[in-house]
Amino acid sequence: MKLVTFDDGTGPRVGVLDVGGAVVDVSGAAGVGETMLEVVEVGEAGLDAARAALTSSPVLPERSIRLLAPIMPRNNVMAVGRNYHDHAKEFSASGFDASEKKMIPDHPIIFTKALSSIVGPSDAIDASMDPSGTSDYEGELGVVIGTGGHRIAAAGAMAHVFGYTVINDVTARALQAQHVQFFIGKSAATFCPMGPCIVTADEIGDIGAARLRTTVNGEPRQDAPIRDLIFDIPTLIEAISAAVLLLPGDVIATGTPSGVGIGFDPPVYLQPDDVVEVSIDGIGALTNPVV
Ligand code: MG
Repeated sequence: MKLVTFDDGTGPRVGVLDVGGAVVDVSGAAGVGETMLEVVEVGEAGLDAARAALTSSPVLPERSIRLLAPIMPRNNVMAVGRNYHDHAKEFSASGFDASEKKMIPDHPIIFTKALSSIVGPSDAIDASMDPSGTSDYEGELGVVIGTGGHRIAAAGAMAHVFGYTVINDVTARALQAQHVQFFIGKSAATFCPMGPCIVTADEIGDIGAARLRTTVNGEPRQDAPIRDLIFDIPTLIEAISAAVLLLPGDVIATGTPSGVGIGFDPPVYLQPDDVVEVSIDGIGALTNPVV
């Protein structure tokens, strides 16, 4: 199932994308949570209720609604640095972090993005929020946690995955560098486009086979299969939950492949009037204009 959060003028509600891509409003059906967070918390029973409500719920005209980010987690969006070999290479070659001795880290590099950076799948990325003028895109797979937990072993970690979404981990490169810790450079308002939906784990099958693609103004920039991740999804969940209590609805942005703007010589940063599109097979596309 492809679950969305939409606004029809009365506030955020939960819907399901039908086969034609139209939004079916299942928010009024019994047993379906009011918000995506509640749907995730209810788990399998909530999904069953949404499935059962599909045929009897209204299909909404596209023009009457706006898709929002599918979920607003309770913990910050967790994200992974340098998690594709080619990207680690381009990042290292850019001279961005001269203090970093190892191109491939021994352990996943984990940072977070503020919740206030989250926007919807077609909302604008406001580059003026980055005073350094070095805004860059990072197309990424987002993993949505279903059942939370602490000290989740990699062997059983996939049972904790509710589904998948697409994230653009927009980054102010100069801020990322000058503050050492990534948080500020990753957390400007509008710098976390997410969506367009959450595809439930049962529907997508082998996520490793899906390809991630990013274009800027239609020009191809990133194109890689998810299986190229250095630290795979179970390893990330094990590493984070070794210390962090993962909550239902938490989101992990799993890292970006090569092709980001800082990998160009000279770097190519996002400019107003650019349009960035990040898509992943089986999930959908984020299409965000830069203002
Ligand atoms: Mg990233």
